[in-house]
Amino acid sequence: MNIPVNSERLARNFIELCEIESPSREEGRIAARLKEIFTTLGAESIYEDNSAAATGSESGNLIIHFAGRGPKANEKGFFLSSHMDTVRPCAGVKVVRKDDLFTSLGNTILGGDDKSGLAAIIELLEILRENKLDHPPLELLITTCEELGLLGATALEYDKIRSPYGYALDANGINTVIVQAPAACKFEITVHGRAAHAGMAPEKGVNALMLAAKALAPLPTGRIGNNSTRNFGRIEGGVAFNIIPDEVKILGEVRSLDNNRVPIYLDEITDSFQAVINAWLPTEETVGFTPTFTFKQLGRYPALNLPGESEVLERVHTAGRMLDRTITEAIGGGGSDANILSDNGLPTAVLSTGMAAVHTVEENITLKDMVSVTEILVALATAEQHYPQVT
Ligand SMILES: [Zn+2]
Repeated sequence: MNIPVNSERLARNFIELCEIESPSREEGRIAARLKEIFTTLGAESIYEDNSAAATGSESGNLIIHFAGRGPKANEKGFFLSSHMDTVRPCAGVKVVRKDDLFTSLGNTILGGDDKSGLAAIIELLEILRENKLDHPPLELLITTCEELGLLGATALEYDKIRSPYGYALDANGINTVIVQAPAACKFEITVHGRAAHAGMAPEKGVNALMLAAKALAPLPTGRIGNNSTRNFGRIEGGVAFNIIPDEVKILGEVRSLDNNRVPIYLDEITDSFQAVINAWLPTEETVGFTPTFTFKQLGRYPALNLPGESEVLERVHTAGRMLDRTITEAIGGGGSDANILSDNGLPTAVLSTGMAAVHTVEENITLKDMVSVTEILVALATAEQHYPQVT
């Protein structure tokens, strides 16, 4: 299959989108520009949902519909999804192009995460239109605040979505589709002891740091089995050499491909802290005082588990065959909007876009890889499949 990607047009659109700063919650400008672009490309409807109240963003998510063409217009179609926010630093982002490699100036991220996905979608729509290719109805879900913990996708107005499944363009690598990704839960534990002068009156103190250390020590971290990981990533508390610390905070996370394992690994943590508190013995000077701890979840998302036999994967492998390439199924290490969309009944596979070194100022991407993902999108949209017709 020969797909006429206009690589210079793709590059131009990519650079333009990257240079519109859009850190999470400040997506107003890019949302406005995307509305213009998709209007020009002939969108049937452009809807900005009401998620902004929940996310605190300048913009809602964009739900955009393109009518199908030819016999495929009666199929149910699918959606393509990208997020329009980026991480920081992104102030004054400028794209540097050296041959086919795009980077930033080195003082900001590039924003290929996830503007490579947006640029590929725009090029897909250009190609479908200028070549009058038959395709099913296409829906775009362009989310906000993905980088803050999938907030836009969580607050998406799901009753507005027409497609039964789709693809999130949001992974590094190329010719890869992520079919599984872990559930995760972030948490903060606070241990409350009692302050006292460490030299003059140690008997009056209850050392929160030592209690935390005892509770943490027996808990396995790293890969803890069952496709799960656990980490304690930050500890803070205490005041000075000579003061018994009365408060210590610990930040950590648990991830697992199995949704059911997450609460089990969290319970192990609270059980360990509770056991240490229960075993604590007062001195004469601390009678009447009991140390305590609090456990607060700071955000969680469910696992992504696409069934092996599903239309969403069947279509992507059909697209691969059309292009004479193998699209490799992979397990992702982190969450994306696909976790949330799938959990809301919209099976979503994550396609790689070639983005590399994301979330760093070394972020980069090649035009060749963006052309390659655009070709996959065109193949997805033009694949001959016997999908259920709208009845
Ligand atoms: Zn991303």
